[in-house]
Amino acid sequence: MRNSNFYKRLSSTFRENPSISRFLVVFAVSGGGLVAYSEANIQPVAKIDELPKAGSENKRVVVLGTGWAGISFLKNLKNPSYDVQVISPRNYFAFTPLLPSVTVGTVEARSVVEPIRNIAKKKKNLNVNYWEAECYRIDAKNKKVYCRPSQEDKEEFVVDYDYLVVAMGARVNTFNTPGVEENCHYLKEVEDAQKIRRTVIDCFERASLPTLSDDERKRILQFVVVGGGPTGVEFAAELHDFVSEDLVKLYPSVKDLVKITLLEATDHILNMFDKRITTFAEEKFHRDGIDLRTGAMVVKVSDKEISTKVIKTGEISTIPYGMAVWSTGIATRPVVMDFMKQIGQANRRVLATDEWLRVEGTNSIYALGDCATINQRKVMEDISAIFNKADKDNSGTLTVKEFQEALDDICDRYPQVKLYLNNKQMSSLVDLLKESKGDVAKESIELNVEEFKSALSQVDSQMKNLPATAQVAAQQGTYLADCFNRMEECTKNPEGPLRFRESGRHRFRPFRYRHLGQFAPLGGEQTAAQLPGDWVSIGHSSQWLWYSVYASKQVSWRTRSLVVSDWMRRFIFGRDSSQI
Ligand code: FAD
Ligand code: MG
Repeated sequence: MRNSNFYKRLSSTFRENPSISRFLVVFAVSGGGLVAYSEANIQPVAKIDELPKAGSENKRVVVLGTGWAGISFLKNLKNPSYDVQVISPRNYFAFTPLLPSVTVGTVEARSVVEPIRNIAKKKKNLNVNYWEAECYRIDAKNKKVYCRPSQEDKEEFVVDYDYLVVAMGARVNTFNTPGVEENCHYLKEVEDAQKIRRTVIDCFERASLPTLSDDERKRILQFVVVGGGPTGVEFAAELHDFVSEDLVKLYPSVKDLVKITLLEATDHILNMFDKRITTFAEEKFHRDGIDLRTGAMVVKVSDKEISTKVIKTGEISTIPYGMAVWSTGIATRPVVMDFMKQIGQANRRVLATDEWLRVEGTNSIYALGDCATINQRKVMEDISAIFNKADKDNSGTLTVKEFQEALDDICDRYPQVKLYLNNKQMSSLVDLLKESKGDVAKESIELNVEEFKSALSQVDSQMKNLPATAQVAAQQGTYLADCFNRMEECTKNPEGPLRFRESGRHRFRPFRYRHLGQFAPLGGEQTAAQLPGDWVSIGHSSQWLWYSVYASKQVSWRTRSLVVSDWMRRFIFGRDSSQI
């Protein structure tokens, strides 16, 4: 009775004062929110050992790294039967080809990164978890990875896996040159590009102070780039544009003291490009006043001087500098080295995988991108097995027909055979056999095993390691995701080439790289492009091709619009010189 009176009084109060009920609703909702929020805070973040153990119904795939290879794998993985755990100290993907533009503010740092959480959110049908930590040990025997969170005060943890995808990239290679680590900038990560941007402006501000001698000003405005590969060349070109288009107007008093030097140990820059591009780039740098020194190897770096040795004469000279950027190549990360020792690859420099990207010496670990290299099996290692498989009638000789029937499998398994034929401009293997036998009557050719060996003896010379590029890493990620997507299907119906040394077929076709061409931006709105078929284009038109390719390759519409608006901002207002 007392209760019903209380409710009546309460309800009439609310009817007469609607604002009170509104207040109560807001209070209830926000209060509930607060309770939910505090509950979320006191609950420990899902501990790694609370996750279903690896080996349970959903196979667990652990991905190490959120770079080109790891993200391309993640984006293309569609099979919902995997439990995916991504571990990386970097909670974003960085579009590295635009890092040289970030060093001078042509593009802003945030425009070239996409948070991993945005990417994971889009994988609606997949269980994807991300852990901001670095893996410091891979235990291949017990299928575990040991991780250290990026926050120093947090505990380390261990994650089990059924499949491990190692996509940790590589570290900068200093070739143990004294003083590099302490005194040079690298250009590998977004933070490196941001530091370079601040340092360039800092050099200009310091050189403009009234108390300095002219020599000191000259030293501070001497920028040295070590390494004439695509990254070093592009950075030198961007820096030159920044100085000549923007900074000379902002720092007129010191503009004539600026000098950019590019040091390269071999005889030419951009060695991996067509000769025409190398020559054009070298001539353009001379015209632009970039001091290009080839055949000069850096032997020591102190805080104010770089010592170089002229390789031909052994002569040592020093260059006083204000800022130096080291961009000479990559080396294996210590955690990968340690893993290589465990699996019997201690004598190698780079982690080796087979043509299916599976780490040699393991059966559930894959490695892709800059941290690994494909160890293409040599034809000569398997030559007897190939002969026996192809010799279907066991006659001890191979006819052209027998050879041709095995040809697709041979070329699938050993791509160097196809490359060899293409390079020799031979239309088929018959030509190859003819060459070795010197026989004209094609159909009658029959080879014994020794003749077969000599016919194929040169094909392995065509094997080349793939370059450490985003293009390779991304294609490998897509390939591996496709294998994972069709794992069950292909286990039942293998689609790969014949196993020459064993019976049956391989589950998948081996990874095949498709080179789509490469760019070398040279500054002044000019780019060199080398497209498939050795088609070379240099100049302003390639620059537009570069803009459109790099805009289209962005991982999201968000970064695409940011990058394009940065380019427009730069066209209209130029780059800015604030030191932040
Ligand atoms: P990365 O992209 O380096 O990614 C490695 C990932 O692993 C990162 O997320 C990192 O945080 C993570 N990681 C590191 N250590 C650990 C650990 N212990 N545990 C877990 N995760 C870890 N290539 C091109 O094709 N075209 C270009 O124009 C081009 N320009 C470039 C410009 C610059 C300035 C640079 C630096 C590179 C450029 N490249 C270019 C090369 C390209 O960026 C690399 O080949 C590519 O990034 C390799 O991809 P990846 O996934 O193997 O490694
Ligand atoms: Mg036969």
